[in-house]
Amino acid sequence: MAKRKVLKYGDERLRKVAKPVTEFDDDLFELLDDMKDTMYANNGMGLAATQVGVLRRVVIMDLGGSFFELINPEIVASSGEQEDEEGCLSVPNFSDVVKRPYKVTVKAKDRYGYDFEITGEKYFARCACHEIDHLNGILFVDKSENREKYYKKYGKK
Ligand SMILES: [Zn+2]
Repeated sequence: MAKRKVLKYGDERLRKVAKPVTEFDDDLFELLDDMKDTMYANNGMGLAATQVGVLRRVVIMDLGGSFFELINPEIVASSGEQEDEEGCLSVPNFSDVVKRPYKVTVKAKDRYGYDFEITGEKYFARCACHEIDHLNGILFVDKSENREKYYKKYGKK
């Protein structure tokens, strides 16, 4: 296991659409384990493979001790609405309010390639939406209340 470098705002790889995982092999396990090390080393709640420069549909999350690995995740249902402050390891020195669904159901595969579905509210829903956005090249800044201010200061990248 090893820490990997987290890409920062402005790196064009953060804007790419990640490809589905097709091989559930040692390379995937290594990626997942490295992502876990990287997330904990940076005190993050979630991390997408895109953020470490691997353009594959892989997400991990830790919500108060519950750890999730989501491979090829898709939001298949969502309901309600919530507003809360978000931050991102790839967007240093900025946090802002983002509107998200209150509850989502995510369909994904585990590291061995088995399908599962999980439904969660509040932080789960927020974090899952944020991380799955990463896989589509979307950053929370794009959906935040003060995005224009941010773009003005750092550029729209
Ligand atoms: Zn993020």
